[in-house]
Amino acid sequence: MGTVFCVGRNYAEHAREMGAEAGPLVVFLKPERAVTTGRGIRLPAGAGEVHHEAEVVVRVGADGECEAVALGLDLTDRTRQQAAKAAGLPWAEAKGFRGAAPLGPFVPVSRAPPLGGIRFLLRVNGEVRQRGDTASMLRPVPELLRAIDAWYGLSPGDLVFTGTPAGVGPLRDGDALELEMEGCPEARVGFVVERAR
Ligand code: ZN
Repeated sequence: MGTVFCVGRNYAEHAREMGAEAGPLVVFLKPERAVTTGRGIRLPAGAGEVHHEAEVVVRVGADGECEAVALGLDLTDRTRQQAAKAAGLPWAEAKGFRGAAPLGPFVPVSRAPPLGGIRFLLRVNGEVRQRGDTASMLRPVPELLRAIDAWYGLSPGDLVFTGTPAGVGPLRDGDALELEMEGCPEARVGFVVERAR
C-alpha cells in the first residue's frame, strides 16, 4: 500500500465546529497499520475520546488522477489532538494509531457518482450523525491531488482522505456505524466499535 494522506478543514462547517478557520491546506499522514478493512473498529487501550470523521477516500491511479473512491473514517483521539494543538506538537499520535483509518470497499470512478457531487452519510446506531457532499468541499479532489503532488509527490496506490463534514462526535464501545454513498450501494460499509480495556 502507498502513503495515506489526510486533508484537514476541507469543509467550512467542520472547520468552524473545531474552532478553526478554513485557511491554508492542512495535510497529515497516517501510517500503514492505521488502515483496516475489517468490520471491527478496535480502539487501543489508553485511547482518549475517539471521534468519528466520515470521509470520502480517493485512490490514486497510474496517471496520478483519482481511479477509485471509498468511504472511510479518519478516527481521531480528540483528547490527544487537543493536547497536541495546545502544545504545538504534531497530530501523529492522535490520528495515526493502529486501526485509525477503517476503510470501506473501493469503487472505480466509472461506477461511482461524479467526484464533484458525491453525497455520503454516517449513521451511528441508526441515527444520522454526519452528512457530506463533495460539492461543498473548500478544495475539490482534483485541486487536492495537484497540491499534494506538487509538495509531497503522489504515487499510484496512494490514498487521500479528503476531509470531514460537520457532525463529528465520540465513539462508544458497541456503537454500530454505517457509511453510505448516495446512488452507490457498492460503497456501503458497516463497522462495530470495540474499546480495549
Ligand atoms: Zn479528517
